[in-house]
Amino acid sequence: MKAVPEGLQRDFPLARLTTVRTGGPAEWFARPSSEQALTELLAWAGEEGLALGVVGSGSNLLVADAGFRGLAIKLDGDLATIEREGEMLLCGGGARLPSASAKAAGWGLAGLEFGVNIPGTAGGAVKMNANAYGGQLAEVLEWVDVCTAAGSDRRVPGDLEFAYRSSNLGPGEVIARTSFKLTADDPAAIRARLEAMRGKRREAQPSGIKTFGSTFKNPDEERAAGRSAGQLLEAAGCRGLRQGGARFSEKHANFVENEGAATTADVLELMAEGRRRVHERFGVVLEPEVQVLGDVRWPEGWAL
Ligand SMILES: Cc1cc2nc3c(=O)[nH]c(=O)nc-3n(C[C@H](O)[C@H](O)[C@H](O)COP(=O)(O)OP(=O)(O)OC[C@H]3O[C@@H](n4cnc5c(N)ncnc54)[C@H](O)[C@@H]3O)c2cc1C
Repeated sequence: MKAVPEGLQRDFPLARLTTVRTGGPAEWFARPSSEQALTELLAWAGEEGLALGVVGSGSNLLVADAGFRGLAIKLDGDLATIEREGEMLLCGGGARLPSASAKAAGWGLAGLEFGVNIPGTAGGAVKMNANAYGGQLAEVLEWVDVCTAAGSDRRVPGDLEFAYRSSNLGPGEVIARTSFKLTADDPAAIRARLEAMRGKRREAQPSGIKTFGSTFKNPDEERAAGRSAGQLLEAAGCRGLRQGGARFSEKHANFVENEGAATTADVLELMAEGRRRVHERFGVVLEPEVQVLGDVRWPEGWAL
């Protein structure tokens, strides 16, 4: 085995790095704080034949109870900064999106308001093509710097094949830096928009709970008749449905809550039951939005 890069930790618990707080440890874990440290880690993992997992804010992430075999990384330091260059907002891949929105507002830069309610990182938002209230990530994204074991390259939105909650970034590709092209506006007007969006969100979604946000993607098929995943789950009787320590939220049926002692297996069982009920009632097959890290055993009955 080659010399192990500095700062690597073994058997690092990942649950606390996710918003739902379930799942086991990473075999290897590191918090690179510069592009060089990141590239070295990726090269090392490549040479060792290790799988790579990136954890952003863990706000749409479900870690297997058995953990993740491979190297999990969380960007830190220089890879989590938020800076301004004229009307460009430069964010490390690990920068928190709500902080980036708030900073941009303070600098009188508009266009990233939709990020205020997305509790992820800039890198996670690009990977997931995150959006809220009609804000379009692809419209304001100028470029991303992507690191792999082979080095770093700059990509523009046209390279990323954005689709609903997806991009073409693969598991070994890490977004180290992002640049957003914003427009000058009155800081007070931007802040007022942020506040309105926060208020709207408070009304629609539960707060202060352990959840990874939307569990399933909104279906794009005729049988769904324009209904969201949450509406279908609710109509199929899933609101408040429990499995072990997990339940579908009373306030938003497409959110799974960890009531305290949930395991990832509980969450998967609950997801399978919700999916089964929606399929039975409406013939619609819901697909997960949440990203799984590590090997999980999908419950019997998942395949419809
Ligand atoms: C309360 C709540 C509300 C939410 N509301 C919204 C919403 O309105 N709209 C919306 O779109 N989403 C929403 N989400 C989901 C989530 O916040 C987004 O998907 C977010 O973009 C995930 O970012 P993250 O940094 O937390 O990524 P994680 O959850 O940590 O990871 C998600 C995926 O991105 C990958 N990833 C993370 N960082 C990087 C990186 N730097 N480079 C490459 N890959 C990376 C991970 O490996 C994983 O595959 C919500 C979640 C919660 C908990």
